[in-house]
Amino acid sequence: MRILVTGGAGFIGSHVTERLLSQRHGVIVLDNLSTGSLDNLQAVKDNRNLEIVIGSVRDTALVQELVERCDAVIHLAAAVGVKTILEKPSLSIHTNVSGTENVLHAAAVGKKLVIIASTSEVYGKTTKTPFSETDDVLLGSTANLRWSYAVAKMLDECLALSYSYEKRLNVIVVRLFNTTGPRQTGHYGMVLPNFVNQALRGEPITVHGSGDQSRCFAHVFDVVEALTRLLNTPDAIGEVFNIGNDEEITIEGLAERIRQRAGSRSEIVKKPYGEVYGFGFEDMQRRVPDVSKLEKFIGFRPRTSLDQIIDDVIAEQRDAMGLAPIPSADIEDAA
Ligand code: UDP
Repeated sequence: MRILVTGGAGFIGSHVTERLLSQRHGVIVLDNLSTGSLDNLQAVKDNRNLEIVIGSVRDTALVQELVERCDAVIHLAAAVGVKTILEKPSLSIHTNVSGTENVLHAAAVGKKLVIIASTSEVYGKTTKTPFSETDDVLLGSTANLRWSYAVAKMLDECLALSYSYEKRLNVIVVRLFNTTGPRQTGHYGMVLPNFVNQALRGEPITVHGSGDQSRCFAHVFDVVEALTRLLNTPDAIGEVFNIGNDEEITIEGLAERIRQRAGSRSEIVKKPYGEVYGFGFEDMQRRVPDVSKLEKFIGFRPRTSLDQIIDDVIAEQRDAMGLAPIPSADIEDAA
């Protein structure tokens, strides 16, 4: 197949691109390089089955032209990260809604298969865990712009499902939970690479709030495996899937684990949310996916352990800093 990967120079998109190329698919990457980077495609940039187009998913004509030339689309391009959303809320809403609208419209015209990336943010502050695809959601007030991301992504999901219902579009919606691994930067607020960076530099590891809020982290390789399997699962069409790992850890626990595995002496400090995100910020206390539906459809669920994920990110960042790898015996001793 030839597959259009929007956001293909981003953290998840570049791993998806590499995997598709290794499976001998042709790939067109569309990316505006706002949070993505051509460095992420360094390993495959000379692959003759890869075409890179620098442009925006908000460009209707461009999206139309690229979708026409492909058999399927994996739509990952979006304004991502709590920090980005809070800094540029209106641009983020616009990108996340009109980009998806462009992709869906073009795919419907050409009858192409589409995977639309949504997010676990849509579950909002729901306290029932684990989160299942058909659960009710609970969002905060519109005055708190954090929720605008969930609102935009919910609208994307509704649009996708409407296209499936009204226009018989072959679309699959995926709700990505916290995904991490090599190439994710801490610049946009993502906690795991940020903590690893602080630990390796011996700087304070900054835990927001009490640190008893929890998350589950999936290795990007597992997420890519799930996405590529879904592409080949006709029964998945018209469905919504959680994609995530269900190994849960508090953020304070994560800071301690990273400090240990990095062999770091950084102190762990707590910063009130107000200091980091401004007054009135609301966080989710727990976020755990129910991945039974995913496993039932594709025979796979993300399972790479958190320790392995942390070690991979430590190895990547040590390499970028010119530091030698940590011998694995030392990591086990530290743990
Ligand atoms: N967080 C933190 N320190 C950081 C970055 C994030 O304590 O340097 C916290 C953040 O407040 C949230 C959790 O870690 O409770 C996960 O944050 P992230 O932005 O990675 O993902 P989210 O799950 O909020 O989308």
